[in-house]
Amino acid sequence: MNLEIIKAIDALLQAPQRIVIVPHKNPDGDAVGSTLALCHYLNNLGQQATVIAPNDFPNFLKWLPKSEEIVIFEKDASTAKELIANATVIFTLDFNHLGRIGQLQPHLEAATATFVMIDHHQEPADYAHIMYSDVSMSSTCEMVFNVLEGLNGLDRITPEIAICLYTGIMTDTGSFKYASTSSRTHTVAAKLIEKGANNSLAHHKVYDTNSPSRLHLLGCALKNMVILEEFSTAYITLSQEELDANNFKKGDTEGFVNYGLTLDGIVFAVIFIENKEEGIIKISLRSEGDFSVNEFARAHFNGGGHNNASGGRSEMSLEETTAYFTSLLPAYKDQLNK
Ligand code: 5GP
Ligand code: MN
Repeated sequence: MNLEIIKAIDALLQAPQRIVIVPHKNPDGDAVGSTLALCHYLNNLGQQATVIAPNDFPNFLKWLPKSEEIVIFEKDASTAKELIANATVIFTLDFNHLGRIGQLQPHLEAATATFVMIDHHQEPADYAHIMYSDVSMSSTCEMVFNVLEGLNGLDRITPEIAICLYTGIMTDTGSFKYASTSSRTHTVAAKLIEKGANNSLAHHKVYDTNSPSRLHLLGCALKNMVILEEFSTAYITLSQEELDANNFKKGDTEGFVNYGLTLDGIVFAVIFIENKEEGIIKISLRSEGDFSVNEFARAHFNGGGHNNASGGRSEMSLEETTAYFTSLLPAYKDQLNK
């Protein structure tokens, strides 16, 4: 990575700072893992640092060391506002523009702190004073490892830091299977295991702690799957009623979208999830190969992300959203049937 970025971060950390670390809304394994790992590292240096998340994160991440200390803006806005207003440095991790942090956005926009971005999403906004953005990276956790290495901090990687980073790399690479997984990703994972990350435990805690109701919800999602062979596409819907009937909890639908891609010949998979409370349909899009779901989500669903994994939203009903989605596909037929 760029030496100038390391020098700039190093210079900041020479003085005592009041640091806030922010992941994106609906934080996933990479967002929670990277922010917690950086927080542990900074605290161990004697810095005052706190992770502030826009909203809650899934139970399958709640075993991560000190995840219980994360300030959730939706639950404790006054603590979060005070920390942000008084912060001298704000790290923003695993997102590319301030529209990705929900209700935290106006508070970060008003903050006077020095902003440091560490992120691997496309088309980063330019709000940060120090910007480490690299879309070729598997995960923000791999990038945080690079930062710690650049700061000569490898000896300061504790088992707690190692497990947080390992978990984020594991979840963002689909357990080391996506195309973004490089030999360097495996090297970093190996070094984290050497530093005390219990890799088998991470897999167990994240993937083998299902509740019966989550598996029932998965059954419902798979039954609802619509396969459009003509467009090499499969999509899933989940209505609010179906979520309620299966005792839905945050994180329960994580990974469901990927089942479409396990079908032979399918290169584009989407899930539409109704959220009556927010009055939106939350959309997750995945692809295999060259078809850019980042561009598709940007163009049609007010979203974005990566080439092979993106998200977006719709304010139409579930039925209208899927009808609109299906109407878009003929224009992409050539790209999808390559
Ligand atoms: P997921 O489908 O797992 O929520 O997100 C997949 C990827 O797309 C993640 O990298 C996430 O940060 C990004 N993403 C998800 N939702 C949105 C959105 O509404 N807007 C943008 N710009 N990116 C999103
Ligand atoms: Mn990520």
